[in-house]
Amino acid sequence: MNAAVFAVENIPLIKKGDDIARIFLQRAELHEHDIFVISSTVVSKSEGRIIPLEIVIPTEKANQIAMKNKIDSRFVQAVLDESTEILLDSPFLLVRTKNGSICVNAGIDHSNVEGCDNILMLPEDPDKSALDIKRSLFNYTGKNVSVIITDTNGRAFRTGQTGAAIGCAGIKPTRDWRGTKDLFGRILEVKNEGIADEIAGFANIIMGEGNGGLPIIIIRGLDFYNESNGIQELYRPESEDVIRKAILKSRSI
Ligand code: GDP
Ligand code: MN
Ligand code: MN
Repeated sequence: MNAAVFAVENIPLIKKGDDIARIFLQRAELHEHDIFVISSTVVSKSEGRIIPLEIVIPTEKANQIAMKNKIDSRFVQAVLDESTEILLDSPFLLVRTKNGSICVNAGIDHSNVEGCDNILMLPEDPDKSALDIKRSLFNYTGKNVSVIITDTNGRAFRTGQTGAAIGCAGIKPTRDWRGTKDLFGRILEVKNEGIADEIAGFANIIMGEGNGGLPIIIIRGLDFYNESNGIQELYRPESEDVIRKAILKSRSI
């Protein structure tokens, strides 16, 4: 298989209300079933998900966590506001976001955000954002593409952050090998590959984390186009999540 990966150059600083599909199509073209990978940072900016810290009023709980971790209590409050569950509150905030992703600080970022006191939240519904971008690209071009929204995430057990998929459309986020054979004819029983994360990880290498200004990556020739939408199947159901259970159990001792 031969696939090509390229970044789209000269994307401006994205502002609230910007039409991502149009900005992209002024600079590059699409082929049927391309994979359009975009950083959550610019999706959030286009959706106006920036807030100045000064308008956040911390609760007592936020003050306590902030003191423990020696961080700004308004930032803690913003994280709590985006979360439905706190798995760890120290030495960092590990939370489940309203959208179901378990991550540090609910994915709230300072980096690559204008204004020193502004913070950027993840898109409110990243699957919907991905679907909106997919539809908009289709409306302009008549081409069907897969869309993956990425964020840089830390990982349990391993150092080194990597790109992770936090929303998708036009692609099934897993590739199921169960029931197929290995080289020796044995039936695979467990392998269900998280391809949306693998693609996000590779795209993230090209984006980088700094001032590269490369928030959109196109992957061509790797056809995973599928009508299914949504990242939820990457999030382990609570009943099967033994690590989460262990964390909650250790906290209550
Ligand atoms: P995250 O991984 O989604 O949190 O985003 P990062 O802050 O790591 O940025 C990913 C890429 O997008 C990097 O190449 C940044 O320089 C770039 N980037 C972030 N914001 C903008 C923007 O408004 N315009 C452009 N052109 N690039 C941006
Ligand atoms: Mn981020
Ligand atoms: Mn990043």
